[in-house]
Amino acid sequence: MKRTASTLEAALEALEAQRLRRTRITVAATAAHGERRLELTDGRHLVDFSSNDYLGLAHHPALATAMSACAAACGAGSGASHLVTGHGIEHARLEEELAAFTHRERALLFSTGYMANLAVIATLAGRGERVLLDRLCHASLIDGARLSGATLSRYPHGDAGAAARLAVVDPGHTVMVVTDGVFSMDGDLAPLPELCRIAHAADAWLLVDDAHGLGVIGASGAGALEHFGLTSEEVPILVGTLGKAFGSCGAFVAGAAQLIELLIQRARSYIYTTALPQPVAAASRAALAVARTEGWRRERLGALTRRFRARAAQAGVTLGLSQTPIQPVMLGSPGAALDAQRELAEAGFLVVAIRPPTVPAGSARLRVTLSAAHTEGQIDELVAALAPISERARRAGPIE
Ligand code: PMP
Repeated sequence: MKRTASTLEAALEALEAQRLRRTRITVAATAAHGERRLELTDGRHLVDFSSNDYLGLAHHPALATAMSACAAACGAGSGASHLVTGHGIEHARLEEELAAFTHRERALLFSTGYMANLAVIATLAGRGERVLLDRLCHASLIDGARLSGATLSRYPHGDAGAAARLAVVDPGHTVMVVTDGVFSMDGDLAPLPELCRIAHAADAWLLVDDAHGLGVIGASGAGALEHFGLTSEEVPILVGTLGKAFGSCGAFVAGAAQLIELLIQRARSYIYTTALPQPVAAASRAALAVARTEGWRRERLGALTRRFRARAAQAGVTLGLSQTPIQPVMLGSPGAALDAQRELAEAGFLVVAIRPPTVPAGSARLRVTLSAAHTEGQIDELVAALAPISERARRAGPIE
């Protein structure tokens, strides 16, 4: 791209013409604990149905208290990377608790899930090797695989048979099978038991990024692996994030001690960056404790998800198969999704349109996410507002 204002303007106009230009909504204030209402800087008050704060922990007083107590004691910033002087007692304790929570030897804390995924894939895969990924894997998994220099083989979404065929194309070269546990934009689960068998047969690592499953699904909230009853031998690499159900920020890789030790030695997105502030780690520790003691949050989230789906079926709102709090309403074109977002905002709801390249072309959607902090009334009102949108989309014809 040439260094001129007009090339930049032309790129922005091209996005605008396709209705793919992104805009940010600036949140001025969030309502008190327990509510999902946002005040935007333009004065609107909307009920948030787009956050990943599934358990409603982001505003839990235990997190805020832990954060401010730690900030008073440790300061706001960590001052250096983990391998210099940035690694503090709150990081160390959180890592131990995450290892215990995931039943693994060790866990390694990262500033974001994006960085965790870059780290683990680029450390374990390399040139001349092959990484298999689901076509709908999160961007950070794809970017990690690209960064590794390995060949990427992407199989159709959820198609374990296709993954098995790809795993034997190049015998001995497939080093890693990579998948989301719960898919971030669709809410469905990966066929993890089949992927375990494929990875095992190919002698490959299996990485499951359970950003949207941990804290949410499984009998005790331990995520997609617990849902399927899979062990750490079957899934040797687990990535989790702390900015979603755990209401804080950061992420971790959990696995065998040697895996974690090698990441500390080699992973560039671990080594060359300032450590997450300790108060954020303290908030994550509080979140882990609250998620354990307030199991009602997960149960309520499950009940609200079932209610949303039942009400949607009664109202004729077309949904997919997802049983998780991620409930996409498919609309097809970016324009249809943006128009629907605007219409919902007029009715008092914030449901952000998700457009390509976040999702494949032709599958723009409203990504509804539910939280334990929603009320039954808010769910019912959202369904009522979605009904005419879904009806119009149905009349417009099938979505490719
Ligand atoms: N993995 C998945 C599946 C995600 O949905 C996300 C967040 N959108 C990430 C990783 C990245 O996590 P973070 O926001 O902590 O960078």
